[in-house]
Amino acid sequence: MPSLASGYVLAPWAAHDEKSRGRVYPEPPAHPRSEYQRDRDRIIHCGAFRRLMYKTQVFVNHEGDMYRTRLTHSLEVSQIGRSVAVALGLNEYLTEAICLAHDLGHTPFGHAGQEALNDCMQDYGGFEHNLQSLRVVDKLEEKYAEFRGLNLCFETREGILKHCSKRNARGLGALGERFLNRQQPGLEAQLANLADEIAYNNHDVDDGLRAGMISIEQLCELDMFNACYQEVVAKYPGLNERTVIHETVRRMINHVVRDLIANTREELDRVSPGSIDDVRRHGKSILGMSGGVRETHRELKRFLRQTLYSHERVRRMTDKADRIMRSLFTCYMSRPDLLSERLGSDADGAVEETRARAVADYIAGMTDRFALGEYQRLIGPGDDL
Ligand code: MG
Repeated sequence: MPSLASGYVLAPWAAHDEKSRGRVYPEPPAHPRSEYQRDRDRIIHCGAFRRLMYKTQVFVNHEGDMYRTRLTHSLEVSQIGRSVAVALGLNEYLTEAICLAHDLGHTPFGHAGQEALNDCMQDYGGFEHNLQSLRVVDKLEEKYAEFRGLNLCFETREGILKHCSKRNARGLGALGERFLNRQQPGLEAQLANLADEIAYNNHDVDDGLRAGMISIEQLCELDMFNACYQEVVAKYPGLNERTVIHETVRRMINHVVRDLIANTREELDRVSPGSIDDVRRHGKSILGMSGGVRETHRELKRFLRQTLYSHERVRRMTDKADRIMRSLFTCYMSRPDLLSERLGSDADGAVEETRARAVADYIAGMTDRFALGEYQRLIGPGDDL
């Protein structure tokens, strides 16, 4: 049985290096690393990964040093993903690689940035951040002499492409097939997807409280928060509020993660997949929380949508981000000379669609502060976010 460096034996339903569907450009073995370790390492060393440090998750980077950025979010996703992977006999390195790469295609300014860019790109094929993450690792990172992109394994790319419209899936060959045939990705990909949700639901509670945009009283109306919170204050009367919040949030994560592991183990016993291909062919996701916990988790998600994500302070930022993204797009589209390095000698002559995609790639790759700086340089002093 193949085992990982950390010593546990990979389950038959895990992704096994030697059964990988491989890389687009074949390469010699990564020895002494595993194939997925090499993928993880390439992701950590890529430029797009470093730029996550200055990209908004919910709070704009300069609002405060304590808030999550896309980078710290990705690290938390990876921590949750790896813990669960080990408990379920899944490939920890593949899980880690997918978790660290899952947000590489995000624009500056969080979801507001993405929606604005998608709107701008409507006549040119649209903009999907998941597809953009894949584009980053497949094409946009130019670091290797022998290929474009990072030349990652199929399973890593499969995990990065969490969602995809049917229209775009048709152009992706084997990677797009599951969206057309309603198949599942491997369990490591399913896990990275859920680890993302668990991470942001919980850290947004923490950040939202820190910012004073949601209150403990409001959160106590949610069963899961209330149960964890009451347990903490009963056990540690007089504890300071910051520590109470941390103890509460860590209990919530624990509760959800334990349930996810237990429920998935039961499902694995029932389905008993003999390989990653059995997992893919199974009609629905094998990995998941039990019904009750799934519902409390959804409740938390709804709460955050209604309070934090639509809070006036977040919306104010959203409006400004929207203006900056649209202005930058229009500016670069009308001045191809600004992009001559990216389009080569073709800058003026490039067909509009090619130019639009190059503009979208460029803007999507920007950090919040670089986008703001470009806006001030090219368009006007504008507003601070
Ligand atoms: Mg994420």
